[in-house]
Amino acid sequence: MFENLITSAIEKAFADGACTSCGSRTVDVLCVSCISRFETVYGCRRCGSPQCTDMACDQRWLPYRRCQSAVVYAGPARDLVLAMKRGGRPAAFRLAARELISRLDLDAARDFAFVTWVPAGRGARDRGFDQGRELAVAVASALRLEAVPTLRRAGKDRQHMLDREMRLEADVFSVRRGLRAAHCRALLVDDVTTTGASLYFASLALKEAGVPSVEAATFARTQLRLQHHQEV
Ligand SMILES: [Zn+2]
Ligand SMILES: [Zn+2]
Repeated sequence: MFENLITSAIEKAFADGACTSCGSRTVDVLCVSCISRFETVYGCRRCGSPQCTDMACDQRWLPYRRCQSAVVYAGPARDLVLAMKRGGRPAAFRLAARELISRLDLDAARDFAFVTWVPAGRGARDRGFDQGRELAVAVASALRLEAVPTLRRAGKDRQHMLDREMRLEADVFSVRRGLRAAHCRALLVDDVTTTGASLYFASLALKEAGVPSVEAATFARTQLRLQHHQEV
C-alpha cells in the first residue's frame, strides 16, 4: 500500500517527462536509450564536410578555425532538433549543448571569449523564437561564458558566389553595431547544418568585423547514410 503510494507519486512527478523520440517515461528530454543512439559525424576534421579530406582542406582559406558537428541529423537527434525548433523545453537545449560540448571537446578549449549564434531565418523570426539563440545561451551557460548577439541576416546579394546546393541554405550576414570583438575568439553555434554555408558566411562576417578567430559548431549535421557507412 505504502509502496504503491510512493510509486504513484513518482509516476505523477515524471508524468510530463516523456522521451521526445520514443515516448517512454524519462526525467530528461530523451531517454538514455535514445541518447545512446546518437551517431558521430564522420567528415573533414577542419570544415566538417563528408566530401572533403583533411589534406585538401589545409590548402584553402576558411573563415573559421574549425567547423564541426556533434551528431548525425537522424533518429533521436533529429527529434531533439525538431523539439528545439518548436520552442522546446529548456532541457532540450541543455541536452543538445551538453552533447555539443562533450563530443567536440569544447570544454577543453576554454579560451573562447564569448558564444554567439547564426540568427534564425524569417520563419523562426515570425514565431518570435530563435532556437540558435536558445542553444547558444545553453552552451554559454555550460561553459560559463556570455552569449552575445553579433549577427543579423543581411540579404541575398552575395549569393552569386555559391553553387546551387549551397544557395538553398545560405544567407549572408552583417555584424550588429557595437560588437566589441577585436582580439577575441568566438564560438559560433547553430542547431543543425546541411552544407555548412550559413556557418561559412556567419563566420566570414565575424572575421570581416575584426574577430580574429572563429570556431563554428552545430549540434547536428545532415549526412547521407551511404556516405556515413563509407566513411566508417
Ligand atoms: Zn527514448
Ligand atoms: Zn575540409
